[in-house]
Amino acid sequence: MSEQIRALGLLSGGLDSTLAARVMQEQGVEVLGLHFSTGFCLADRHRILGNRSNPDKPYRNEALRAGADLSVPIEIIDIKDEYLPQVVLHPKHGYGSGMNPCIDCRIFMLQKTKNIMEERGYHFVFTGEVLGQRPMSQRRPPLNAVAKESGLGRLLLRPLSAQLLPESIPEERGWVKREELFDISGRSRKRQMELADQLGITDYPQPAGGCCFLPDENYARKLRDVLAHRGTDVTPEDMMLLKVGRHFRLSGEVKVVVGRDEGENAYLQRFIDGRAEVWVDEFPSPLTLLEGEPTAIDLETACRITARYSDGRDEPKVPVRWRIGDHEGQLTVVPFQDDSELEELRI
Ligand code: SF4
Repeated sequence: MSEQIRALGLLSGGLDSTLAARVMQEQGVEVLGLHFSTGFCLADRHRILGNRSNPDKPYRNEALRAGADLSVPIEIIDIKDEYLPQVVLHPKHGYGSGMNPCIDCRIFMLQKTKNIMEERGYHFVFTGEVLGQRPMSQRRPPLNAVAKESGLGRLLLRPLSAQLLPESIPEERGWVKREELFDISGRSRKRQMELADQLGITDYPQPAGGCCFLPDENYARKLRDVLAHRGTDVTPEDMMLLKVGRHFRLSGEVKVVVGRDEGENAYLQRFIDGRAEVWVDEFPSPLTLLEGEPTAIDLETACRITARYSDGRDEPKVPVRWRIGDHEGQLTVVPFQDDSELEELRI
């Protein structure tokens, strides 16, 4: 009997990685999907806030959903604590359009995958990467760098673009048939969609959705602000807090985060520990958190911002509650009327 070939695949649940896994299955390869949780996944926020654009459609973890559809087991691996300092804050290959260290990110994940491959006796690793699809990480030089620096080298197979790339070990050894792999390249998803049709894959997320906050310019701006004011003294929890709310900087030390709706207020509740909180009792209101040690002026400004985003915004004066540790009080303030003043504070 011939040996069962076993491969590890990075599986986000997006169309490309789903297709890559399915193509491997078609070739008789036993697949285990790995999904890395970086602390920057959009999924974390969706899981807490739910599906706000379509509340009737509950949130789903796309990697687990794709695994279930393909009958591929999925392991979710939490790399948050290492990923922030080692990848996001010190990317050897730099950032993409936002704060996305895509090349270092792929290298880091694939180094972890290589370790698992060796420990558990898998034959090779594959990904859904497509030559030329992403400007930063999927051009030929970065694809080569990722293979080399992850230590996988030719044990890394990209089934969707394999015919455009040098032959990998799985092809050379006949573990998979090169002629049954693909020569897909570029940004269009047309061929992937055709292939999905052929393979009976109908349920997959829209490609434009993305899965990570780091390329997002709004997120990147807030992250740059934190790094500029706190250096690298930041934690995965700080990163979670950047995912929601309106952010305003009052001074080098003090920052304000204002919830935009009930879901975000509930999300912010998780981060109250160690922060001051501000809210309005008399009107529906955001929950506002203050980071750092606010002065009396900072506290008043935070109260005015909170009043501005409460339903009392058109009142001449609004009583605003605050709590800092064991101390609690109320300030009656004039809500910010002129948003251009606020724009100067907005991050
Ligand atoms: S978009 Fe985010 S998760 Fe994807 S490769 Fe880039 S940094 Fe990594």
